Formats: sequence, C-alpha cells, structure tokens
Amino acid sequence: MVSRVIPVDPFDLVVFGATGDLANRKILPGLYRRFFSGQIPEGARIIGAARTEMDTAAFRAHARAAIDEHVGAGKRNAAQIEAFLNILEYVPIDAMGEGGWNELKALVRPQMINAFYFSVAPALFGPLAERLHAFGIATSQARIVVEKPFGRDLASAKVLNTTLAEHFDETQIYRIDHYLGKETVQNLMAVRFANILFEPLWNAQFVDHVQITVAETVGVGGRGSYYDKSGAMRDMVQNHLMQLLCLIAMEPPYHFDPDAVRDEKLKVIRALQPVSAADIVRGQYLAHRSDDGKGHQPGYLEDAENPDSRTESYIALRVHVANWRWKGTPFYLRTGKRLRARTSEIAITFKEPPHSIFDEADETWRENVLVIRLQPNEGMNLKMMIKEPGPGGMRLVQVPLDMSFAEALGEDGADIPDAYERLIMDVIRGNQTLFMRGDEVEAAWAWTDPIIEGWTARGDRPQGYDAGSSGPEDALMLMHRDGRRWREIRE
Ligand code: NAP
Repeated sequence: MVSRVIPVDPFDLVVFGATGDLANRKILPGLYRRFFSGQIPEGARIIGAARTEMDTAAFRAHARAAIDEHVGAGKRNAAQIEAFLNILEYVPIDAMGEGGWNELKALVRPQMINAFYFSVAPALFGPLAERLHAFGIATSQARIVVEKPFGRDLASAKVLNTTLAEHFDETQIYRIDHYLGKETVQNLMAVRFANILFEPLWNAQFVDHVQITVAETVGVGGRGSYYDKSGAMRDMVQNHLMQLLCLIAMEPPYHFDPDAVRDEKLKVIRALQPVSAADIVRGQYLAHRSDDGKGHQPGYLEDAENPDSRTESYIALRVHVANWRWKGTPFYLRTGKRLRARTSEIAITFKEPPHSIFDEADETWRENVLVIRLQPNEGMNLKMMIKEPGPGGMRLVQVPLDMSFAEALGEDGADIPDAYERLIMDVIRGNQTLFMRGDEVEAAWAWTDPIIEGWTARGDRPQGYDAGSSGPEDALMLMHRDGRRWREIRE
C-alpha cells in the first residue's frame, strides 16, 4: 500500500523556541522529513526565533546538526538537506522584549498561510500573543500552536485561554497533544466508525472493561525538580490518557469535522464521574542497586531533589463514564516512569459469550481482547478463539489476529510520520480535528482538580515501587478486587 503525500499550500511558519529541545528533537527534524517526502511546497519558509543571538547561517548549521542527529540515514540526502536549509531564516527575539519584532514582520508574508509555533514555556504564550498583535504581525487568518502543559489546574488554564482569546479566535488556536497525532490513534476512529464490525459491540453490554497503559522506562532525572511540581496525573492523565479515553468512549460524531469530533470528546469528559480515594493508586519509583552492589540508580525522591516529595511518578485509576453506553464498564488507566518496558496501549476486553457449546471451553476459554498499540510497533491485535489445529477433538486456543501498520503498509509503513509532523501539517491545512479545544482542556482540569485536591487534603503518600517493575502492589489490587488483572507491561 502506498501512502499519498498531498502537498500543502505555501506558508510561513515561525517557530518560537527554535533553539530548544523540542525544536531540536521533533520540530526541525519533522519539518525536514515532510520536506523530503515532498509535502512542503516551493515558496514555503520556516523562521526560527529565540533570544540567542545568531544569524540565519548559524541557525541553518544548528538545524543541520538536529537533522543529522534525529533523522534516519535513509532520509538524509545531502541535496535535500541543503534545499531544506535554504528555506530557513532566523530572527533573534525575546518574547518579553521589544527588539526583533519589526525584523520578523518584514519576513512574514501576510498573503501566505501564517503559523506561529509557541515552543516555549507557557508563561511566554501571553507575551508572544500580545506582541504578535501589537506589532501587526498576526492577521485574523494566522494560526498559533501552543504546547503542553496547558495550565496546571482549571484556574490557570482559564487564565491562559482568556489571554489567548484576547488576541486570537478559537479557530486560530491549535493546542497540541502529540498523542492525537499518532497513526494508531487516528486509526482508532477509522476502526470504530468506518467498519460495521465493532460499533454494535462497543458498549457496556459487550465490553467488560478497558485498560489504557502508558509506561515509560525512563525516570525523571535531569528534570526532576520541574516534574515534581506536576506529577503523573497532571503530566500524563489530564491530557494524553484522557484523550485516548475520549476516543474510545465517544459517540460517533455526525461528521469527521473538527468541532463535531471535539463536541463528542467533550461530552465524554463531562460524563466522567468523580474518582474516590479507593480507586486511585499512586507510586514513586525506588532507588535501584545492581546485583554486584556497584551500580546505583537514584529513586524518585533523589531525582526530584525533594526527600519529602508526595508527587507521584506512577498513577493507576479506575474511572467510570456515566452515560448510557458505558454504565457499568470500568476504564482502568495507568501510567508511570521507570517501569518494566516502554509501551503505550489500549486494550478493550469483551465479555464472555452467553453460553458455551464446547466441553473444554471452561478450561481453555479466554476473552476476546482488542489491543491497540501506540508504541512500539503501532498496530492492532484482536485475540480470538479458534480450534486448535489437528485431529483429536475440539480443543480451543486463543490466537492473535495481528496487524502491524509497518507490515500492512509495506515499505511506507516502516516510515509512519512522527506525530509532530502530521500535526504541523494539519496546522498548515487549517484542520483542528486533532487539537484540543479550550473548553475540552478546561473540562479535563475540572475533573482532575478535585482528584488532586482530595489526595492533597488527605496527605496521601505515594507507595514505593521497584524500578523495572509494573508499578506498586496496590495497583494490582485495584484490578484483583474486581476479579480482573492488568495486562503485562512489555514491548
Ligand atoms: P527548552 O529546551 O527549555 O527550550 C526553550 C526555548 O525557548 C529555547 O529555544 C529558548 O531559547 C526559548 N526561550 C526561552 N526564553 C525565551 C524568551 N524570553 N523569548 C524567546 N525565546 C525564549 O524547552 P523545550 O523542551 O523545547 O519545550 C518547549 C515547550 O514545549 C514547553 O512549553 C514544553 O513544556 C513543551 N514540551 C516539550 C517537550 C519536549 O520533549 N521537550 C514535550 C512536550 C511539551 P533562548 O534561550 O535562545 O531564548
């Protein structure tokens, strides 16, 4: 299967924070890959901006280094890199200052599509929005892209929304959640709404439960004191896991249209029930000493440089969506650092058939499970019961119907675009479907805030868990007491 590359219209994209980590690892290499694939048309221009004083030649050298480091050898073509670097410009600008804006204005061509990517700390979103207007750079057609975190609670998210709304209409604001740019996540919508197969079963009558897992092997070392101010609930659940839950639980939108999709997601968030203390398990990874006693991997408290920290590096929750479709089907969410493997998946476990006609079925029977893998190896897998091959009676065995996108899409599949690439191209196309709307973000915080306030008021301490494990013991109990078990965390 060959994927089609449809070029976008010519644009000027300004990347604020062009010297930062995200620009280096994702934005610049991603834009180069889109250029390499032929999606960036002639006449397009990418303008880097940050406080660092340098000229365009130095910025191009910086971008070349980022491409060398983060683009696979198969796509590093000298002529293409050179051509890409030629569309880059750089302007030194302090978001809080008044210098550089006129130079930027001279570069940005208002007759083109204009997009401004705020890849800077959220405290700078307001000053950037304000100056883009004050200097007459952003037109009413311009788009801004804002990074996470979008607030740290409902109050701060509202302030951010209000600040941006002073200068930009909601249709101009693209709030990034890069999970929504993943191929599998969009495929989830295709599988649900472009096939008749699953949707009739997609409800509490047939779905026993849903598990959403985002597991990381890395700790928070390096950015521990920053992470300690947020924790897994704010950093992962309020945005990424919540978005995944919405796509699983939402009703079919009337059309695949940005507001229709986001309206349905919003209804799910609003239907989330408050979560009681008994349905939450929080953890912190413990220090790890290697068997020979020589190697020492710091625990969370050491990484966070806060021996009294009560911030969680792991959280598991049992969540209920209070509506007709999902009443009685729990959604178990978990995410954490320093776990056994780096993996993200959604698993939908279906109920038992109402009656078994097979004698041996009691011993061998397993539920049907649809697993949607986000990483590694984006793909889907449906576990089904079949007859074990061979003579000697009817014995049942569970087999996976496996679809790895990389394999299914042939050569192109090995080359699934990174989420950031897709999302930036959606910004240029003016398609907001995969971006969070302001009211969605606020609704997500409105659900999250009381949960955090609850454990803060109770003075709960996270439970320690071994580095390289599946998380705290109590998280196992969260499932066991319902007669269920977590899926193994493995790559
Ligand atoms: P970073 O490495 O600290 O980079 C920050 C960038 O902002 C640098 O280019 C810096 O360049 C620029 N900057 C700082 N102060 C400025 C000012 N006053 N005016 C203009 N530019 C200024 O941060 P990052 O990791 O790239 O993150 C950028 C944003 O993306 C943040 O909102 C972050 O939360 C979000 N994000 C990052 C990641 C990631 O993987 N890195 C993932 C998700 C979300 P100068 O010092 O030259 O000004």
